Amino acid sequence: MSAVVREDLIVAGRRRPGRGAVLPSISPVDGRVVAEVATASPEDVDEAVTAGAAAMRDPAWRGMLPHERARLLHRAGALIEDDLEGLARLQTRDNGKPITETRALVASAAGTFRYVAAALETLDETLTTPRGPYLSMSVYEPIGPVAAITPWNSPIASEAQKAAPALAAGNAVLIKPAEWSPLTALRLGEILLCAGMPPGLISVLPGAGPVTGEALVRHPGVRKVSFTGGTATGRRIGAIAAEKLMPVSLELGGKSPTIVLPDADLDHAVKGVLFGVFSSHGQACVAGSRLFVHRSMHDEMVDRLVAAAERLVIGDPDDEGTHMGPLISAEHRERVEAYVRLAAEEGGRVRTGGERPRGAGLDAGFFYRPTIITGLDHGSRVCREEIFGPVLAVLPYEDEDALPALADATPYGLACGIWSRDYRRAWRLARRIEAGTVWINTYKQLSAATPFGGVKESGVGREKGRDGIRAYMAQKGVYWGLDEAPMRWGD
Ligand code: NDP
Repeated sequence: MSAVVREDLIVAGRRRPGRGAVLPSISPVDGRVVAEVATASPEDVDEAVTAGAAAMRDPAWRGMLPHERARLLHRAGALIEDDLEGLARLQTRDNGKPITETRALVASAAGTFRYVAAALETLDETLTTPRGPYLSMSVYEPIGPVAAITPWNSPIASEAQKAAPALAAGNAVLIKPAEWSPLTALRLGEILLCAGMPPGLISVLPGAGPVTGEALVRHPGVRKVSFTGGTATGRRIGAIAAEKLMPVSLELGGKSPTIVLPDADLDHAVKGVLFGVFSSHGQACVAGSRLFVHRSMHDEMVDRLVAAAERLVIGDPDDEGTHMGPLISAEHRERVEAYVRLAAEEGGRVRTGGERPRGAGLDAGFFYRPTIITGLDHGSRVCREEIFGPVLAVLPYEDEDALPALADATPYGLACGIWSRDYRRAWRLARRIEAGTVWINTYKQLSAATPFGGVKESGVGREKGRDGIRAYMAQKGVYWGLDEAPMRWGD
C-alpha cells in the first residue's frame, strides 16, 4: 500500500501549505485516502491574485512576442507528453477513470497546449476601415487575472482547456480544481513552471467551492472566470459576475439526446450509443443519456444494447481491459441510485443494470452497473434531469419531424448524436436541434480546433479554437491621426 502524500498549494509559483483546512483526497476504487491536500483560504486567494496581477504587468512578460510565448506553451505540451503515463495513473487514482481514458485525456491536454501555441503565433490583429483622416486598428490585450474553476470528471483536460488559452492571451491563471480530483491540477501547475512560465502567473488553489472558489469569483482583482461544472453552481457564479460586471464562460450540464434514424447502420449506432453514455461511467457532461430510436427498431436496438452493456468489464481502472471504473464517490452513487428508483416510480423498466456489481475488488469502491431503462415518457424527470452516471433511457419515436421538439424538451442544450446513412437527412436534423455540438455517425469526439460549449442551461460562451484565445483578451481600438492640419474644432 502506498503512503499518503501531502500536497501543498501553488501560490504565484511557490509551493507552500495553505491557510485553509487540509482535506483528504479519496480514491473511489477502494475509498482509501491517497493524499492530504492543502486548501486555499480567502487570504491565500488574495495573495495569489495580487501576485498574478503584478506578474502580468512585468514588462518582460507583457512585451514577450507571441512566438516567444508560444515556445513556452509548446514546452508545456511536450512536458505533459513526456509524463503521459505518470499523469494518467495519477488521475486514475484520483477520480477512478479507466487508464485508457485518462491516457487520452492527458494526450488531449498536451495537444491543447500545442494547438494553442500554434494558433497564438498566427493570430492576426487587424486594420479597420477608417472613417476620417486616421488609421484605425483593432488590437487585443490580456483581460486580467483569470480564475479557472474545474470539475472532477476530466481533470487536466479541463484545466488545460482553460490555462493554455488564458496564458497565451497573456494572463495570470488561478486554477481551482475540484475537491475530488486536485492532484493532476497541482502537477500541471508544476509543469507550467518547469516550462518557464513566470512563477507569479501560476497558482493552483485547491479548496471547497463555496470557500476557495467563491473567494476567487468575488475577488475584485479577478477579471474573468472560466467555469466548468454543474448548472446550479454556474448560475451562482454568473450572478456574482453580473454584480461585478465581469465576463464569464460557463460550461455546464447536459442531458444530451442521441437519435437513431431508421436508415442507420446499427452496428455503428450500437457501439456509438454505448460509448456515448457509458464511457467515463456516464460522468460526462456530453453523455448521450436519452436515446430516441424509431419504433420499428426499438426492440432490436434495446436487445443489442443490453447484450453489449452486459459485456462491459467493470473493475480496477488501472487494468488495461477495464471499460468502467467506479463512480466518483459514495454520495454520487447514491444519487444515481435514487434516479433509478425514481425511474421505476415514473413507469420505467430496468432492462439491465440498476444495481451495484458484486465480486472481488468491487465491494469497497463506488461501482455501479451500466443501466438501460425503457418505458419512460420523454417528459419524465429521469429524462429531463442530468444524472451524471451510467443510465440510459431509450425512447421510441414515430414522427421524424417531431424529433427536434422531443430532443429539445429539457432545460439543456449541450450535445446531440445522430445516426443515419443519409447525410442530407442528418444535416437537416442537426441544424434544427438546439445544441452546442452535434455528432453525426460518431460521438464524444473533441478537437482542440472546434468550438465547444452549450446553449440554454448548458452554458454561456465557447472554448477551444482560435476564438478560444480571444475569449481571454479585451479588444481595444487604436486610432493614429494622419492629418497634417490641427483639428478644426473651436476655430
Ligand atoms: P460543481 O458545479 O459542483 O463543481 C464544479 C467546480 O465548481 C468544483 O471545483 C467546485 O468545487 C466548484 N464550486 C462549487 N461551488 C462553488 C461556488 N459557490 N463558487 C465557486 N466554485 C464553486 O460540479 P461537479 O464538480 O459536481 O461536476 C459535475 C458537473 O459538471 C455536471 O453537471 C457536469 O455536466 C458538469 N460538466 C460540464 C462540462 C461542460 O464542458 N459543459 C464538462 C464536465 C462537467 P468543489 O469541488 O469543492 O465542489
